[in-house]
Amino acid sequence: MKEAKTQGAVISRHGKRISVSHRGGIMVRTGSYSLALDPRRAIKSDYSFVSHAHIDHVHSPDGNSKLLASKETVELARVRGYELKGAVEELNGIDLVDAGHILGSRGILIEDSVFYTGDFSTRDRGFLKGSPGVKCDTMIMETTYGNPRYVFTDTEKIVSQVSKLIAECFHRCRPVVLTGYPLGKAQLITHLFRNWGPIYLHESVHRMNEAHIKLGVELPKHSFCETGSKQQSLLKKRPWIVISPASSGRSQFIRTMREEFGAVVIAFTGWAVDRGYSYAMGVDYAFDLSDHCDFNELVQLAKYCNPSKIYTVHGFALEFAEHLKFLGFDAEPLEGVEQSTLTSYA
Ligand SMILES: [Zn+2]
Repeated sequence: MKEAKTQGAVISRHGKRISVSHRGGIMVRTGSYSLALDPRRAIKSDYSFVSHAHIDHVHSPDGNSKLLASKETVELARVRGYELKGAVEELNGIDLVDAGHILGSRGILIEDSVFYTGDFSTRDRGFLKGSPGVKCDTMIMETTYGNPRYVFTDTEKIVSQVSKLIAECFHRCRPVVLTGYPLGKAQLITHLFRNWGPIYLHESVHRMNEAHIKLGVELPKHSFCETGSKQQSLLKKRPWIVISPASSGRSQFIRTMREEFGAVVIAFTGWAVDRGYSYAMGVDYAFDLSDHCDFNELVQLAKYCNPSKIYTVHGFALEFAEHLKFLGFDAEPLEGVEQSTLTSYA
C-alpha cells in the first residue's frame, strides 16, 4: 500500500492517526482497526459498515469482518434476501448517526473525527425525519444530486399537486399507478397518499410495507395486487390506485395497467427535475420526491458539519467538490482517485 506523502499524518484529538482511502471501496484506518464503508465487494477489513438496505449497499462485505449496521437495516436486508450476520450497532469509538434517507439508514462518525454520510436526507418527509448531520473534521459525503439544477419541490406541494391529479383521474373513473423504489420511496408514497383508496400494492412493495409495519412504522394495510384472473376481478372496479416499483412505463406490469385498465402512471424520483424524464421513462407524470439531499441541502449539510476536509462520492462528485472549493472548503472527489491513501487526518 502506498502511503500518502503529500498530506502527511495528522493526529486526532484523541491521539489517533486516521486515514481515508479508496481502493475498490472506501476504507478508513485508525491505529487500531480498519473499517470498510458500504463495500460493494469483499474487501479485507476488521469491520464493514452497511449504511442502509438498498441493494447496492448490502452485498459482499468480507466474510471475516465484523458488521456494523442498524437493526432496521439488518431486518430490511433480511427481507430482501441478505443476511447481515452478527451485525452490531455499537462499537468503541464509533457512533452511528441517523441519515434520514430510508428507515434504518445511518451515517457513521469514527473517533469523533471522520463522518461518512452514506445516502443522506436533511428533509422531513412523511414518517421520515431529516437529519442535520454531525460536526466533524473530515467528511465523506454523498453527492448524488450535487448539481445546481437539482433543487427539489416541497413535499407538501408535491402531495397537493398529485392529489389534484388523482382527483381528476378518479372523476373520470381512471385508475392511477404511483411508482417509486420498492424500499423507501414506496412506503413514503403509501404514507403520503394514505387518504386515498382503494390502494393495491405490487408484491415487492407489499413485502417492504409489511416489513416497515413490523418495525413500528404506522402505514395503512393494503392488499397486494394479484396477477392473472384474480387481478382482473379485483381491478375491474375502477377507479383505484396501485403502488408499484419504479420501472420503465414500458415494463410488462405498467403496460398491463395502462392497456387493460387505462391507468395514468405517475413516477416519483429526484431525476424528475430533468426535462424529458417522463418521456424517456414512458410515464405520464413525474414528481421530484427524493430520499436524497438536493443541491442546496448538500451545501447546508457541509456547512452544518463544518469539516476541514471533504471527500465527495457518487453522482456529481467532481462538480460538487468544485463548488465546495468555491465556498472555501478543502474538497475533492474520492472516487476515481487511484492512490490507495489519499490523506491522513484527525
Ligand atoms: Zn439509498
